[in-house]
This record gives sequence, C-alpha cells and structure tokens, in this order.
Amino acid sequence: MPSLSVSLDPAKPLLSVKAGVGEPAPAGVSALQASDPEIAALVAQEKDRQHRTLEMIASENHASHAVMEAQGSCLTNKYAEGYPGKRYYSGCAFHDEVETLAIERAKRLFGCGYANVQPHSGASANLAVQLALFDPGDTFAAIELSDGGHLTHGSPVNLSGKWLNPVTYNLVTDESREDWGHLDYDSVDRVCAEHKPKVLMTGYSAYPRTIDFARFREIADRHGAILWADVAHIAGLIAGGAHPSPFPHCHVVTTTTHKTLRGPRGGMILTDDADLAKRFNSAVFPGTQGGPLMHVIAAKAVAFGEDLQPSFRAYAEQVVANAKRLAGELMDRGYKLASNGTDNHLILVDLRATDPELTGKDAASWLERAGIIANMNTVPNETRSPFKTSGIRLGTPALTTRGLRADDLAEVAGFIDRVLTSRGDAAVIDAVRADVESLCDRFPRLSA
Ligand SMILES: *Cc1c(COP(=O)(O)O)cnc(C)c1O
Repeated sequence: MPSLSVSLDPAKPLLSVKAGVGEPAPAGVSALQASDPEIAALVAQEKDRQHRTLEMIASENHASHAVMEAQGSCLTNKYAEGYPGKRYYSGCAFHDEVETLAIERAKRLFGCGYANVQPHSGASANLAVQLALFDPGDTFAAIELSDGGHLTHGSPVNLSGKWLNPVTYNLVTDESREDWGHLDYDSVDRVCAEHKPKVLMTGYSAYPRTIDFARFREIADRHGAILWADVAHIAGLIAGGAHPSPFPHCHVVTTTTHKTLRGPRGGMILTDDADLAKRFNSAVFPGTQGGPLMHVIAAKAVAFGEDLQPSFRAYAEQVVANAKRLAGELMDRGYKLASNGTDNHLILVDLRATDPELTGKDAASWLERAGIIANMNTVPNETRSPFKTSGIRLGTPALTTRGLRADDLAEVAGFIDRVLTSRGDAAVIDAVRADVESLCDRFPRLSA
C-alpha cells in the first residue's frame, strides 16, 4: 500500500490550510501539498487506488490530463449566468468563446443543431428537460427501473416519479425467445396506446443491447409522443460511431459527459428543434440552475475536441470489442448474462444461474477485495432488493482507456471467475489481487 497516510483523528484540527491566494508553494511541492496536506495525501492515495485496481464500473472512465487541467483552471472563479453574448455579468468575453467552442464541438460530434452544455450532471440535464416539457402530473413512458432504467426516469424516490406520472414498458421476458432480454418494442407500443404519454423515453443505465431509435420514433409518432433519448451511457459509442445515432429520430437527447464521452463530470442537452432548444435553455437557466460551471464547460470542450479525433473512433470500437470478449469468456465459463451477451460497453451477469446463494452485493465486495471494481445491479426478473440484487454490472470503457485489449479482457474474465467461485475465500482473493496488480503494472500509470 502507499506510504502516504492520512490521520482522520477527530482530535486533530479539521483545517490545516497553510497557504493563501498567491502564496507560492516551496520548490518540489504542489500548491495543494503545501496548502492542504491532508487532502493532497487523500488525492495521492486515490490516484494510487485507480492505478492498482481494474475499473469496471460501466459508468466510469479516466479523463485525460488536458481535461483535468481545464477543469482545474481559473475559469472556476467566474460568474457567467446566461448564455454566450447574453450574460448577466461583466468580464465574460473569454467565457463566451469557451462555451461557444463547447457548443459547436458538441453539435459536430452528434450531428445536431443545438446544444446546451451547462447542465451540472446527467440528472440536472434530465430535470431541465422535464421542466421544459411537462406540467406537474403529466404522463411519460420509460422502462421499468429494475430492467435497466435510471432513477430520473420515474423512480418513486426521484422528482420524476413524485411530480410526474411514469408508465413503464419492459424487456422480453420469455427465455425461449431469441430476443430474450432485449427491449420489448411491442410492450412500448402497448403502453403508449393505453396511456397516451406526452413523452416516450429511451436510453438506459444497464442495457447491454443496441437501441433502435427509428423504431422508437415510429411508436412515438403513432401515439403523438415526444421522443426523448437519455444516452448518458452510450454517448461516447455514438460519438465514436460504435452505436447508431439518436438523430434524426429523437426530439431531445440528454447525456452525461463523464461516462463513455470521457470528459469532466457533467451533463448536456441536444436537439435539432429550434423551439425546443429555446425552452431547454430557459429550463437550465434560470429554470433549474444558477451560474454555469465554466471550468467544467471548458473541460467539456476539451473532451469533445478529443472525441472528434479519429483515435476516438478506434477507442469506441475497442470498448465494444473488449466487452464482447469479456462476455464470451464468461459465458464459456458457464455464466448467464442478461440478453446472453452484449452489443455495447457493458454486461450484466445474472449470478442466480451459477450460484443461487450469491448476491450482487457479496460478489461486488469480493471483487473489490481482489482489486476489481464493479457494482451490484438488478437484473431482468430481479427477485432481490436493490440493496442486495442478483447481478453485477461490468463495463469496459475505463479499462479500454488504460489500453487493455481483448486478450487482456480474457485474462480479466479468468480473475472474475476465480473470485466468484471462491465463495469469498481469502487465499484465493489475495492471489487474484496479486495478479490484478501485475496486470495493472503492465499499463502506464494514469496521469494527474
Ligand atoms: C448516469 C446516468 C444519469 C445521471 O447522471 P449523473 O451525472 O450521475 O446525474 C442519467 N441517466 C442515465 C441513463 C444514466 O446512466
């Protein structure tokens, strides 16, 4: 383990800040180390953790040093309420240019006419769209949460489920069908016919298959619904040409910028419709947010610039190739995957088929001890609570950024199998941990 250690002794003063604005750090010491050694040490430990573990949480990635540098810049100091050319504060000339670059790059990346790059997160982007499109109590259709949806798509604990009226469609549940575990487009059509939702939502957090946006649009048109795709997970695959585009089919598209897009943590709203674009702009500011995070918007622009490079297309393709190899290797070892495989960056392992006693919670905690970071996840036809679950979700975006290729994923599948069949045995887990660390050491240290 790293030599840096941090005392969380409650008797120690909480604040150990030494330097003020403009006070130079001593040579060889970063400003953060000089000013706040406790936080500096924790950041260093986290950096080390990221290097020594295999990051397989499907929604995570490693942003570039350039993205982090922009995010750590002086742009954090500025209030820029409003939009480029229409600010409420003076001194925004450079911020206007930064935000305009982010918008133009986003539009190019997704081939659409309008982009709002101010949402602080994916959830904030969704909230703004909901404010723009709905009156309280309005009906919208989305997938059942346990089938791979997101909390902001109508969960009873989220504003979308408390103030709106969600109706849900499902995945194909008949295991004898070829398309078991894929979206059940007939159920989408049925729920729209029955409830006439104002909006039909697609886009998921744990769906391993390609989304047929054209088919969604047909259904939306048949029932007079606005079509909204939340592509938070697959945005980078879309940008890199490894998943079909939601345009021109969807009226509105929301996304995060930190998952497969590999940017800073944040959100974004895209559309091709000028009237909707105006409504989304006012719904973000002043509807649901105050001043934009201009340092994050600068980092979004940097990430979009990276995503526009040919190398990003190769990345997106490799993410999918890696996930397919991981899926194949696990299925060869007898594991059951939701939908029997994957088309994208993630897989869902249904643990009940191989070990009826094993919960997703235990599996994720054993894997963590072995240095493999994944999350428990509900699976189709879930029988356990969301706090235990019967599945784990595994993704390849972060490992692919580190440079792992399909053969490395085959090795990782072997590690996962050894952990899951160990019943939590400490000796096995320690041995896998050593193998994980030597695999990590074969790849360059992560920057920043
Ligand atoms: C991750 C995710 C979000 C939320 O993004 P945050 O930045 O965590 O708020 C929204 N929708 C979907 C489908 C997601 O997967």
